Amino acid sequence: MCGIIGYIGENKAKPILINGLLRLEYRGYDSAGIATIEKDEIKTIKNKGRVKNLNDIEEINSLKGTIGIGHTRWATHGKPSSINSHPHADNTNCFSVVHNGIIENYSDLKEFLKSRKYKFLSETDTEVIPNLIHFNYQNSDETGDTKFLKAVVDTCKMLKGSYALEVISSAHPNNMIVVRKDSPLVIGKGLNENYISSDIPAILSFTKDFYILNDLEFAYISRNNIEFYNEDLEKIHKDFQNITLDTSSTEKDGYPDFMLKEINEQSKSVRETIGSRISSSSKTIISDLNINKKFLKTINKIYIIACGTAMHAGLTAKPIFESLCEIPVEVEPASEFRYRNPIITQNTLCLFISQSGETADTIAALKLAKSKNSKTIAISNVVGSSITREADYTVYTHAGPEIAVASTKAYTSQIVLLAIIAIYFAEILDKNSTKINELKNDILLLPSNIEEVLKDTEKIKAFAKRIYKEKDIFFIGRGIDYTVAVEGSLKLKEISYIHSEAYPSGELKHGPIALIENDVTVVSILTNRLLLEKSISNIQEVVTRGAKTFIVTNQELNDDFDEVINIPKTNYLISPVLSVIPLQLLAYYISKEKGLDVDKPRNLAKSVTVE
Ligand code: GLU
Repeated sequence: MCGIIGYIGENKAKPILINGLLRLEYRGYDSAGIATIEKDEIKTIKNKGRVKNLNDIEEINSLKGTIGIGHTRWATHGKPSSINSHPHADNTNCFSVVHNGIIENYSDLKEFLKSRKYKFLSETDTEVIPNLIHFNYQNSDETGDTKFLKAVVDTCKMLKGSYALEVISSAHPNNMIVVRKDSPLVIGKGLNENYISSDIPAILSFTKDFYILNDLEFAYISRNNIEFYNEDLEKIHKDFQNITLDTSSTEKDGYPDFMLKEINEQSKSVRETIGSRISSSSKTIISDLNINKKFLKTINKIYIIACGTAMHAGLTAKPIFESLCEIPVEVEPASEFRYRNPIITQNTLCLFISQSGETADTIAALKLAKSKNSKTIAISNVVGSSITREADYTVYTHAGPEIAVASTKAYTSQIVLLAIIAIYFAEILDKNSTKINELKNDILLLPSNIEEVLKDTEKIKAFAKRIYKEKDIFFIGRGIDYTVAVEGSLKLKEISYIHSEAYPSGELKHGPIALIENDVTVVSILTNRLLLEKSISNIQEVVTRGAKTFIVTNQELNDDFDEVINIPKTNYLISPVLSVIPLQLLAYYISKEKGLDVDKPRNLAKSVTVE
């Protein structure tokens, strides 16, 4: 994961790097560092913890250099510590590097360098890179700029794994080299200055003109020029894109945390996702999807592939596609799919979901599906992200920037978008129009129904106060309610660190009920009238064994339970968009009661760009 930032221009690099790192902190926050070139010497400041901790180091105030690189880390190799933080330099402090990704063959490379008398200070995989650059530089016959560039290119040829790299050198104080492979990197073009970043929003206040790097494209950057090269050191031409994004939604707007803001924004974000794609009186239009009946009729299986919360949106979409389109759907974590040789033919349609569009496992799974001739559709929230450049088709959720690490509004927008795609397919295939129209009408009512759910949060807050010290919490549901249980349980784990499990209600008696004892909390979701009685029986089974219950439902319940949160009635297939909200709020208020950092939970990062 991690965020990387770079600046080369006429202004002091330090404040620009710090500003960028603060915006990139959602990508990793266990340590941070910057390096600038000061009078032909590289100066490095790094520290454990958040970006703000860099200010504890007095020397940072003396940095005046106008070229620099910065990093906010999500450790993969080597614990979070000052010494393991980036930037990393070679033994002579001639080259300094920040890295996002994993060097898989770092052990072999370390041995190779050690046998040539190189020493290592950190436990990271990254530290081999500046030393290899030094090695290749020393052994090069080239001169001038080409010598620097060739040393970096030759180094990349030795690396296995994923990387986005920025390299500066005291021997080339007016230049920076950047390259990426399977990790994101963009270059922002300014006037007599250039910016480098892991994502566009971090530098959007400085420039709107962006070069989007592809894998193994090398950029040789000075303050007023950028040259692009391929691996064979041939010059390549790249055009920049003018990108306009609304950055206003990257502020908290008076909310104490981004997560609470994003939970409360869901009526708006779902409205944006619906846009003008569906209406009750006309056929569904998804302008970015150009799929015809002849092709769709050949599809005998749909795969939905994603990670984490996005995969939970996929689980929810499975019954929607199966019910509307009558095509079997399989949902799988990308990290499993990519390594198990799944059966994919040209009659398989593969959908990939990634909020950031940079999830390494999901991108790799997409490449695998493409190599097997399947048509691929990417669902992402970030315009121009890596996944959208790989897929045959891209459909955007338009949920607006999601900053909190725990996903909320992206999840509800993903479900809504998947439902709209299912309707679009079902209409093309001339499936049951009554069913389709009923669902469309309920989708159009979702924004106002979300507002209803958000009106009264006091009961949820009070219940959170009651249970925040607990060690284990269980979530149960049947059918589509089970998919929400899984998401509610993940949300709780992510931000409250309470152990939690989700089970299909009917499975409890096959084992997990042994864990239910006096005063354990069981959260239950009940939105399917047809399964109501069965589900109530399952809840009674845990109540009998002493559990207290928190129920989210749109049904009338006759029995007494500890807490019942009523939500508006809607089509069963899209009920998760409403029923998940009380669970998001429950996790949020428990985390607040525990005094935790809701937006930046430990060990996590927003955009998972490593395997
Ligand atoms: N693998 C590198 C490290 O652990 C980089 C991790 C990252 O992308 O933040 O330091």
